[in-house]
Amino acid sequence: QWIYLSGEYVNKNEAVVSVYDHGFLYGDGVFEGIRVYEGNIFKLDEHLNRLYDSAKSIMLQMPYEKEEMKEIIAETVRKNELETAYIRVVVSRGMGNLGLDPSSCSNPRVVVIAEALALFPKELYERGVRLASVSSRRNRPDVLPPQVKSLNYLNNILVKMEANQAGVDEALMMNDQGYVTEGSADNIFIVKNSTIYTPPTYLGALEGITRNAIIDLANEKGYEMKEQPFTRHDVYVADEVFLTGTAAEVIAVVEVDQRPVGDGKPGVITNHLLSEFRKITTTDGYK
Ligand code: PLP
Repeated sequence: QWIYLSGEYVNKNEAVVSVYDHGFLYGDGVFEGIRVYEGNIFKLDEHLNRLYDSAKSIMLQMPYEKEEMKEIIAETVRKNELETAYIRVVVSRGMGNLGLDPSSCSNPRVVVIAEALALFPKELYERGVRLASVSSRRNRPDVLPPQVKSLNYLNNILVKMEANQAGVDEALMMNDQGYVTEGSADNIFIVKNSTIYTPPTYLGALEGITRNAIIDLANEKGYEMKEQPFTRHDVYVADEVFLTGTAAEVIAVVEVDQRPVGDGKPGVITNHLLSEFRKITTTDGYK
């Protein structure tokens, strides 16, 4: 397996970064998770736009133009002879002195990993997942903007651990006002009386590429689609609940805090949107 590491392709075992890299020392950097479906790098432009916006927001100077980055990512997929894959792009502040000040870091590190994807098991889409609400709160948008996909994922990790401890598949995260924001690495949608709702990202959610694709598909297919705040109660009494994300695609939620969602089976609208989503995964992107 070949890993792209700041200008070269190196073998997986030799793909290492310095202990002085501020990405390692402080989580100072940004990243993306991207999927390849039958040779199509799904929504690559959207992922690159988010990556460059995240970098700009934290004043990390990307060492390559977007078009170069696109070619590097495509070449990493080609070199590993992958048709269906998961890509991880990491850009860290790079090596510097100890201490938080990033001004000693002159060369951002760029890593691209492409590997064969461990798909979520088919049964999980048929059965649906269970959620538990967690005590950790999504950070406030005036602290670290939730739209920045930074390497600081400790909050999300803690949330995932809380879900594990509760014996469920995923976490239901809220902000400090109790509005639902997202899962540990997925956006959330609910359906009530045939209207689809998802939280506005300013409440404290990443602007997911899959989320946006589903909003577009929902509008296209004639559903009433609203970006509107809602609470845990609204999730409990929803007819359908589903999560979206690069890894999860669109996955039904069938239980929230031990309350069944609807009749406890993946909903009709959820399944419809999943099948429509799967249709665009091989065409909408970069080959
Ligand atoms: N929310 C968080 C915190 C995430 O890390 C992710 C994963 O990237 C998502 C939501 C889903 O976003 P996307 O659909 O772009 O993968």
